[in-house]
Amino acid sequence: MKEKGLLIVLSGPSGVGKGTVRKAIFSEPDKSFEYSISMTTRLPREGEVDGVDYFFKTREEFEALIEQGKLLEHAEFVGNYYGTPVDYVRETIEAGKDIFLEIEVEGAKQVREKFPDGLFIFLAPPSLSELENRIVNRGTDTEEVIQRRMKVAKEEIELMSLYDYVVENDSVERACEKVNCIIVAEHCRRERV
Ligand code: 5GP
Repeated sequence: MKEKGLLIVLSGPSGVGKGTVRKAIFSEPDKSFEYSISMTTRLPREGEVDGVDYFFKTREEFEALIEQGKLLEHAEFVGNYYGTPVDYVRETIEAGKDIFLEIEVEGAKQVREKFPDGLFIFLAPPSLSELENRIVNRGTDTEEVIQRRMKVAKEEIELMSLYDYVVENDSVERACEKVNCIIVAEHCRRERV
């Protein structure tokens, strides 16, 4: 029987740089794993393409997908829905290929319940003050929103122990290297029997 692929989840607090690390990983040639494109109700940012960055949906469409059981997990983040289409994840794993999800922590918790033997990697900021600096430097949030994000981030960091690995995002290059190494090591660990 064909070996199943590995489900890999990269998660961590908002502002830690999950998207940047994920994009850097997938910009490397010859990736042996597939990326799970999420669905979202947020509007596309400049340069984002439907079906590449996200599948952009209306709230009604998204709620219908939840209703029909088409999402492996979903969460609301800053007023928008985000979710992982379940069929592509299952098909990829069954075909013996690894699949990579980059999602926020509430969604990761839901995936852990459904796929307890997935590989869960937590991307952590070097420190809370560094995380605050990054959010402030993005320049997109008011002081009140920054403080709300920091409160959520502190709660999210407490969930770190639920993950198999913690990778500090001190530099994008080093974080990518560690994530790639973890995936290779995980295959070696699982295939030794
Ligand atoms: P952004 O709007 O900046 O692209 O993403 C906002 C947050 O949503 C990020 O933390 C990102 O990791 C998370 N996210 C993206 N796709 C999904 C998904 O399918 N499910 C969940 N739960 N979170 C997601």
